[in-house]
Amino acid sequence: MDRYKKNPLCLGALDIGGTKISIGIADERGRIIASEKIKTEKDPEAAMKTAAEYLKNMSELRSCKLEAVGVSCAGPVDTVTGKVNNPYTLPGWEEYPLTERLSELSGVAVKLENDANCALLGEVQLSGLRKNRVLMISIGTGIGCAFWDGRSFYRTGKKYHPELGHVLIGTNRTPSEKCYCGHYNCVENLLSGTALHKRAQDAGFRDFGDLTEAYFSAFHRQKPAAELFIRDIKAEFHSALWNYSLVFHPDNIVLGGGMAFAYYSFFEDICRDFLESVADREDFIPPFKLSCAGDGEATALAGAAMLWRI
Ligand SMILES: [Zn+2]
Repeated sequence: MDRYKKNPLCLGALDIGGTKISIGIADERGRIIASEKIKTEKDPEAAMKTAAEYLKNMSELRSCKLEAVGVSCAGPVDTVTGKVNNPYTLPGWEEYPLTERLSELSGVAVKLENDANCALLGEVQLSGLRKNRVLMISIGTGIGCAFWDGRSFYRTGKKYHPELGHVLIGTNRTPSEKCYCGHYNCVENLLSGTALHKRAQDAGFRDFGDLTEAYFSAFHRQKPAAELFIRDIKAEFHSALWNYSLVFHPDNIVLGGGMAFAYYSFFEDICRDFLESVADREDFIPPFKLSCAGDGEATALAGAAMLWRI
């Protein structure tokens, strides 16, 4: 017991993105007790050597024994082979045996998971939602979704998370360019941050923020144009929520990503409207609670660490 007190266990966590890697250690509950950031190297071996050094130093400094490491990474990742397959933001990392090498370098077991699932697990853990069915919709450059069924992640097959951002939705508009998934009217091509800003600019606004300002102001000269535009966005978002809710029956929907942080009240309004519109259809869509995701970095690291507690 004394020994345990002197040397409690801690879990290592990495969050690998295209430009930076966050490295941290967490306690048993997923609370991050130390963290650092490094630049993402083109050479994954060099990056993992640095990360293993940091984990060793952090755990020594905090007098805790590193038990295992969880890694969150911009997907797609193969959770079975422990390799990253993301030539878009991590070129040169394909085929690198990430979990195998980091395990050799750090001396402990390593698990790999995509960043959408880790963000969700971190949120579920830190918000006390482990037993709930939780859908996370991250609205940023793209649209990333992940689902927790109260015990584990929903996966397509054993390895991958569902690409819910590419579900097709009904719309009055056809964007000028196709999504990389090959379609015009997928959720990401219509409602991602990139798409919303571009659509707002095409409609004569500076960006999406400018458009929402016009929409909410009483006497803006572009208000009618903004209203027309927002009506379409709402209808499209409702389509997405209808489809997701039908399939998953979530108890909670958590909105994350840069757009959700910047315009949370706007998206909250849309979700509230949606819930009102389906209030008499509880057989189809049970009501869900809506919330905004917490701090991105701490949540992602907590989720990575908690891969060892599911
Ligand atoms: Zn798509």
